[in-house]
Amino acid sequence: MNWKTALEDMKPYIPGKSIDEVKRLYGLEDVVKLASNENPYGCAPSVKEFLSSTAFQQELYPDGYANGLRKKLAEKHGVDESTLLFGNGSDEIVSIITRALLDEGVNTVMATPTFPQYGHNAKIEGAEVREVPLKDGQHDLEGFLRAMDDKTAVIWLCSPNNPTGELIPSDKLLAFIEQVPMNVLVVLDEAYFEFITTPNHIDSITWLDKFPNMMILRTFSKAYGLAAFRIGYGIGNPTIITELNKIRNPFNNNVLALSVAEKALDDEAFIEQCRRLNHDQRERFKRYAHENKLHLFHSEANFMLIEVPGDADEAAEKLLQRGYIVRSGNALGTPGYVRVTMGTELQNTGFLTAFDHLLTDKGR
Ligand SMILES: *Cc1c(COP(=O)(O)O)cnc(C)c1O
Repeated sequence: MNWKTALEDMKPYIPGKSIDEVKRLYGLEDVVKLASNENPYGCAPSVKEFLSSTAFQQELYPDGYANGLRKKLAEKHGVDESTLLFGNGSDEIVSIITRALLDEGVNTVMATPTFPQYGHNAKIEGAEVREVPLKDGQHDLEGFLRAMDDKTAVIWLCSPNNPTGELIPSDKLLAFIEQVPMNVLVVLDEAYFEFITTPNHIDSITWLDKFPNMMILRTFSKAYGLAAFRIGYGIGNPTIITELNKIRNPFNNNVLALSVAEKALDDEAFIEQCRRLNHDQRERFKRYAHENKLHLFHSEANFMLIEVPGDADEAAEKLLQRGYIVRSGNALGTPGYVRVTMGTELQNTGFLTAFDHLLTDKGR
């Protein structure tokens, strides 16, 4: 078959090991997955209750316009309903944006390392991917400006950035977007927005009126604890949304996901609680890293990129043998580090004990 030439150098996504797989492979009874930034507290109890007690009309197509969820989110964010676009996870919005704007002969600018889906989708469309190395784990926005030219169609900002967790400070972000030409789409991926605790951080949604070339991505997969249902959304100027809707599959969100996400929005207290507990665990990791003289990036998300003694693959493997699944930095563009999702207090106690063994094995 005549596959797109862009596919030649690409590889399918390889998921990390599942809990069941690790249990079987290592003969373990308890295994904790801290590899995909899922919510260790689950979702709001009211959502669980709703799921077990609600009947769905499974024979009907879902609401392709997501009316109920749209109305609620528009109210929550104080935006017009026409500014919202729903995706099968924000992953799907990334691919919709890419299909709409990227092609051979144009380029797209992003940080490196960052969320791999931006580059992956761009390559499928044959666009040139321009990567701007992080500086101390942060987006180098000056570098972005230098990398852009009149063939730049989309720029991707990930804040907090995956895998470093570092936030783009509001003042720098604002000054940067003001310099981006209006015909370039600025995508601001805020998958971890709900975990931000830095004081004075400005909700970028308030800038949307000022920047009709900006789009914000959020998701129900992380803080809301609903990764399994695949629902994310974009917020942007209605003219952008109209174009992107031409590409979106008509029924891309299933009925269960739509109603569960809507239900989850009713429990803001749960999100606040997760934010607080997550913050406490980040502080704990900071103390641990400091005490053990390990470098740690400043994270405003629900994961941390922490230095390991020796090779990262080897460290990840040793942690796996003790029942903790993390991501090796070798696969993330950050050799010498592992990315670990903040678990519950109990899970992290176990994790840090397993980490102690990495240090003693290396005579530290
Ligand atoms: C997890 C993640 C997403 C994907 O979220 P889904 O809504 O589950 O597709 C998007 N962006 C970043 C930076 C992420 O880490």
